[in-house]
Amino acid sequence: MLSLAKRTESLTPSYTIGISMKVAELREQGKHVINFSVGEPDFNVPEKAKEEAITAIRENRTKYDKVPGLVPLRKAICEKLQQENHLSYEPEEIVVTNGAKQAIMNTLNALVDPGEEVLVPVPYWVSYPEMIKLCGGVPVFVYPKDHKDYKICAGDLEPYVTEKTKLLFLNNPSNPAGALYDKKELEDIAAFCLEKQIYIMSDEVYERFCFDGTYTSIGSLSREIRDMTVLVNGLSKAAAMTGLRIGYTASTKKIASAISAMQGHLTSHPATISQWAAYEALKDCKDEINAQLEVYRKRRDLAMKYLDQMDKITYIRPGGAFYVFINAGAYREAFKGAGSFSVAFCDRLLEREGVAAVPGIAFGMDDYFRISYALGTEELEEGLQKIGSFIKSL
Ligand code: GLU
Repeated sequence: MLSLAKRTESLTPSYTIGISMKVAELREQGKHVINFSVGEPDFNVPEKAKEEAITAIRENRTKYDKVPGLVPLRKAICEKLQQENHLSYEPEEIVVTNGAKQAIMNTLNALVDPGEEVLVPVPYWVSYPEMIKLCGGVPVFVYPKDHKDYKICAGDLEPYVTEKTKLLFLNNPSNPAGALYDKKELEDIAAFCLEKQIYIMSDEVYERFCFDGTYTSIGSLSREIRDMTVLVNGLSKAAAMTGLRIGYTASTKKIASAISAMQGHLTSHPATISQWAAYEALKDCKDEINAQLEVYRKRRDLAMKYLDQMDKITYIRPGGAFYVFINAGAYREAFKGAGSFSVAFCDRLLEREGVAAVPGIAFGMDDYFRISYALGTEELEEGLQKIGSFIKSL
């Protein structure tokens, strides 16, 4: 009997992608579904970015180009990092990828040997453990002693470090909890990683969605930290370009050339048309993008207002990103014997109310479910009311 590779056996398909596929199916069947599941902005690609992509096609800017990405785009990324994040990078230190997912896979493949360990704070984004395993690494889940704000500190990391620890995954602001680290908290983590000589993969895709305080990119703390950090970012969330698949890494030249060498074999480079759209989004669409931030803030506040009225539901005020990670563990009894509580909870919520959310088990915490509030106000309110009546019925 022909078998598949072992690595496929322990692979859990992505919950976030799975649920959004299910929503698409239900909608095709004519069902009304409010989709709080996948984290996808409801905004469209900025107008000027669309125009640039169309012009690029018309002008036949459609041939193979540089593996690490178009030079003008890499320069625009360097300018962005300098102006907004106080980070100094050269275009040779940037690699443009097919979405931030590929940027993370590239980072893992460049830094982690089989059997080496990667620290993953809980709750984590659903794809982190699977990506680490696919690269032969070992995910080591870090449970903060005190889950009250879903952030880790050096003291939390210490017990999990071994001689095999190679890399820390840091997601700021975090998906699913929206936890936003301040400068002092990052200094504590950075000092620890420096002392223990652990690389940092800093996933900053939600960096623009920062509501309570200012954003600090961990690599900006010092040159030494910058050099042991691979910054991952992209345009999917910030410029509502999810389907265009543009992400990037910023790292030392040594890491960037290793990543680039691998990418040359794997995908060459992302579609040039998407890269031109990204270039324009970075250069000329700042105002349009920044205006969206206020809209997201209002949505977050609206979501919190509804959740505050729900009995025995708790959550931590999300300082950033566009999710709320909600503890519904008080209702476990109503789903007794159902295997995973959060899966049963979300299944019943979808079935009864037509509301899709992501079970907390996807993020390592089964008492929870996650909602993405990147939805129009009307839909958002309707969905939250439905969650409210669902909770009442339990
Ligand atoms: N990152 C988003 C989410 O967590 C998009 C879906 C995915 O790639 O997981 O919902």
